[in-house]
Amino acid sequence: MKQTIKLSDLIGNVVTKMEAQKATFGPFDTHISQKADLDKVNQVLDTLIERLEDNYPYFHPQYAAQMLKPAHPVAQAAYVAAMMLNPNNHSIDGGRATTYMEREVMRDMATMFGYDPDSFLGHLTWSGTTANLEALWISREINPGKAIAHSQDAHYVHSRMGEVLNVPTIAIPTDNRGRMDLVALEERLKTGEIGVVVATLGTTGLGAVDPLADIIPLAREYGARVHVDGAYGGYFILIPDVLDAETNRHYQAIRDADSVVVDPHKHGLQPYGCGAVLFRDRTIGPYYKHDSPYTYFASEDLHYGEIQLETSRAGAAAAALWATIQMFPLTSDGLGAILRPGRQAAQLWYQLISDSKVLKPYQKPELDIIAYLADVPSMSKLDDVSHGTFLNAVDCDRPQQTHLATYNVKPAQLLARGIDMVMDRESTRIMRSVLMKPEQLALVPELHEHVEEWTRRSI
Ligand SMILES: *Cc1c(COP(=O)(O)O)cnc(C)c1O
Repeated sequence: MKQTIKLSDLIGNVVTKMEAQKATFGPFDTHISQKADLDKVNQVLDTLIERLEDNYPYFHPQYAAQMLKPAHPVAQAAYVAAMMLNPNNHSIDGGRATTYMEREVMRDMATMFGYDPDSFLGHLTWSGTTANLEALWISREINPGKAIAHSQDAHYVHSRMGEVLNVPTIAIPTDNRGRMDLVALEERLKTGEIGVVVATLGTTGLGAVDPLADIIPLAREYGARVHVDGAYGGYFILIPDVLDAETNRHYQAIRDADSVVVDPHKHGLQPYGCGAVLFRDRTIGPYYKHDSPYTYFASEDLHYGEIQLETSRAGAAAAALWATIQMFPLTSDGLGAILRPGRQAAQLWYQLISDSKVLKPYQKPELDIIAYLADVPSMSKLDDVSHGTFLNAVDCDRPQQTHLATYNVKPAQLLARGIDMVMDRESTRIMRSVLMKPEQLALVPELHEHVEEWTRRSI
């Protein structure tokens, strides 16, 4: 029978069994230097918990603001269990069981993206930033001296990592829904200066999906690689049934891209410290070749340290992801069932906003991120009203608080979307909500009514 799982239901069992497992290696005395006064420790932890009051309720459905989602209790318990040994997945010797768990989850991820699980190369990372860095670095090694092309709405990691790699970056304009413009891309490809095109499937701002299925043949024609940044949106490949046909067509093209990044710590129910990068073709492996006298690659099998840029990496992150996937596999009914309501919440809210007399949509959502604005005559008024709405939403005691977020747009971006007003500022805030929590679907009608009311009060 299914029930709500709390960490407190799992943690006692996990800690007791792991302590017993550790005890089988024989007792030893903790060095005096590591001993501490238990009362004092508890005081410190109580102070910590008090200080944690100074947070927004990121886990709560009424937190409908930024890209934040709680780790599932299964992931939390598994993380703690593995952390009690603190394995390091840099080498098999440093993290035996968790290295094999990582292999299993990476095969599942390869299958999810349509890569051949027997010929891809990939691993977990600390973050989407390092995962993207790694893919861009391999692209530089394969196409040296050439630029990275990404869309204007791509995450800033791409231009920043271009600086790190000493590779020029080119921002390709976006269309009226925040997607890479293919005509503009082809113009730049024609010059022969581009070594890799980054297609973002789910931009961080608007959840826009670049036209990957059309980018791939273009890039191939001009000898460029294609990298997919699915740090945020990668997992949406699991729910084609609630995506627009056009969006889905681009997800299905990931299988033909050279590399892809996804962040299990965004939509994969994991605590922070879990990104992933996958290359379709494992023959890129030799680019990672290094020689170090301090590592301990004792077994013959491939160590993650031989195919990653990072060195130490939490085996606990692999354990947490492995356990989560046992419960919520990378299928439409597994993890997909957790993603689908967020997507439906964005669709429902878009409808309500489209019919509203107070609000209007900024653009139609492709994933689970919604952007909207008050129907007012000028950018300066809009900026005030957006900020006012944001403040009105939190301006009450717990548990009534709602947390919203704002997003900056420019006159040209408004005009491209057919939104006209007095353009008396260089930019204005509008409203943006990331609906990552499945519980938010049921909340949308009420949330919408409240947002209309808070907006009216700000006008
Ligand atoms: C979050 C994000 C990143 C950066 O990933 P981190 O895990 O925060 O380092 C890169 N690209 C996109 C599209 C993202 O949403």
